[in-house]
Amino acid sequence: MSTAEPGHTIAVAVQTPAHSGMGDLLTYRSAQPLAPGTLVRVPLGRREVLGVVWEALAAPPEGVDLRAVAAVLDGIAPLDAHWRRLVNFAARYYQRSLGEIALMALPPQLRDLQPEQLARRLRRPAPTAQTDAAAVPLVALSAEQENARAQIAAQPGPFLLFGSTGSGKTEVYLRCVQAMLAADPSAQALVMVPEINLTPQLEERFIARFGATSVVALHSGMTNPQRLKSWLAAHNGSARIVLGTRMAVFASIPQLRLIVVDEEHDASYKQQEGARYSARDLAIWRGREQGAKVILGSATPSLESWYASRPASADDPGGRYLRLHMPSRIGEGALPRLRVVNMNHQPRRTVFSAPLLAALQERVERGEQCMILLNRRGYAPVLHCADCDWKSDCPHCSAHQVFHKADRTLRCHHCGFTVRVPRACPGCGSPDITPIGKGTEQLEEQLATLLADVRRPDGSPVRVARIDADTTRAKGALEAQLAQVHSGETDVLVGTQMIAKGHDFRRITLVAAVQPDGAFFSSDFRAPERLFSLLMQAGGRAGRDAQYIASQGSRGELWLQTFHPEHGMVAALRQHDYIAFAEQQLQERRDAAMPPFAFQALVRADARTQEVAQGFLLAASDAAYTQGLPGLGDHVTLYPPVPLVIQRVANVERVQMLLESDNRPALQHFLAAWQPLLLALRNQPEHKGLVRWLVDVDPLAI
Ligand code: ADP
Ligand code: ZN
Ligand code: ZN
Repeated sequence: MSTAEPGHTIAVAVQTPAHSGMGDLLTYRSAQPLAPGTLVRVPLGRREVLGVVWEALAAPPEGVDLRAVAAVLDGIAPLDAHWRRLVNFAARYYQRSLGEIALMALPPQLRDLQPEQLARRLRRPAPTAQTDAAAVPLVALSAEQENARAQIAAQPGPFLLFGSTGSGKTEVYLRCVQAMLAADPSAQALVMVPEINLTPQLEERFIARFGATSVVALHSGMTNPQRLKSWLAAHNGSARIVLGTRMAVFASIPQLRLIVVDEEHDASYKQQEGARYSARDLAIWRGREQGAKVILGSATPSLESWYASRPASADDPGGRYLRLHMPSRIGEGALPRLRVVNMNHQPRRTVFSAPLLAALQERVERGEQCMILLNRRGYAPVLHCADCDWKSDCPHCSAHQVFHKADRTLRCHHCGFTVRVPRACPGCGSPDITPIGKGTEQLEEQLATLLADVRRPDGSPVRVARIDADTTRAKGALEAQLAQVHSGETDVLVGTQMIAKGHDFRRITLVAAVQPDGAFFSSDFRAPERLFSLLMQAGGRAGRDAQYIASQGSRGELWLQTFHPEHGMVAALRQHDYIAFAEQQLQERRDAAMPPFAFQALVRADARTQEVAQGFLLAASDAAYTQGLPGLGDHVTLYPPVPLVIQRVANVERVQMLLESDNRPALQHFLAAWQPLLLALRNQPEHKGLVRWLVDVDPLAI
């Protein structure tokens, strides 16, 4: 047809294949005018897909034959301009297509629903009237809490609530939400947590305070129908509080007035695949755009947030955030004491030093609980043949296969490749193959043996348990295992960082990190920051039940077994001195021009061979120089391509190139100009179909 169809021309955001180069928006016609933000179903190729109307366009040029919108999901109010601006910003900032971000931000089930199905779902009775908040009497706030609350009420923010573990940060969030809801009958709040499954207590506390119908959850552990239901409740305003993980930052919350990002330092706020967005950073942007106050909370803030909240001084106007400090624990509970075991003075190959074992025994005999941390699951990280030096290397990755004793397998933690443990060395036939190094499975086994004679106060034998990704694979397993710790059934809990975060275990009085040294000397400049916060958080688990601890004359302890007791981090841990640690790290970062004093992005290429992946990045770099992209060599530095630390995973070679800039807008400007060149390169014959690439803006691991 060459004549333009009657009706309206609209641009629609749809999910096109990644980097397809199809542009961000596709054009359709519609018989009726459609407001921006309207959800529609449109034909795309031979499929019909969900889309979001982005804007109305003038009529298409003569001779262009547009396809028609197939259906309008008019049971759902159009997504508002705030939401669309957020999506637009995230797409530009993280170098993704608008359609990808828009569709990622919507509940998956919306994609499959026809308007009639949706209408039926929307007709289902809504739950009964809201339960009133605060049936329970409120505790009196401590002076520090009251100061934080008052500042948050009076100032625009954003705020960094820097409060020790157990200082009552959650209570401050609850009060701020409560005040906001009371002041404005339609206001909504967004409360984000790193991993909701690990902190069911938080959800319980919000429900107890505000009633089950005011609070909805949004996280990936929910079924698609549950997610749709929560999303709709937030979108139509019936949910006053949205409690979720990083994905919740994209929820449609039209009356958003307050955003809380709890444990803001946590790496899980950064999505590590696809669109690599930071939900914490987007929360700050969203709060400003939508007029919502933002509270970032942590006992160990990210160095970015710490620096952004620095006070003003004579020659520095200060950071953008307002820092609120709550150093004291509620109930005067003392912070745990640090105990350091110098492993240079222990017999070789000691895993549990004698003083640590004695301390464990003493605690168990008193009916207290202990937690042992090791960030390596499995029994041993590698099997080795002493005769021919064979190692259990993964054939598909540049990594070892980990020995798992429970099911006698060797498993690659990168690609999942699994084989049965060989009876003899595959290299030389020697029967003498031995595990090297320790994993959580082995610690659990050894502890059970070492503590076999220890009795609990009731005379029953000690119970050692383990929680890590292996023990919690089955649905409900984590909850069941956590319940055992809470009920006191477990005396000594061994696990990975999974157990260090957020749990309010009342009777844990001792936490031990048995091999923390790796992170002291890691090539990743963020490793010390991560270890410090992990240990402070873990230590925060110890001794939370202040009354109990006081009545026993006991005290929470954090134990470190280290070959480097003189390391600066050990001293900072001993003083619980996050501030000293942060200032020292910031000085190092400033000297080395690292974030937060510089801005980074990575462009990564994956291919079957190093040559192809490197070739792509070299060509990308050449193109940037030949085209004279803005800022290059001046504000933007492009480093040579290097293989990733784990260079090959599942037979894919991975190479990356670091970009650094002293100026965020300059980096953004450069990336935006570079994107079309990368797309064009990808379609050249020497790369087409052979290379996958991605851009990671503000990467957490480089
Ligand atoms: P955080 O989030 O900083 O770790 P929480 O808000 O969970 O701290 O508070 C720690 C404990 O102290 C919780 O059991 C909480 O119920 C209690 N708590 C908090 N504020 C007060 C207060 N003002 N008075 C009494 N108990 C409080
Ligand atoms: Zn051998
Ligand atoms: Zn592998």
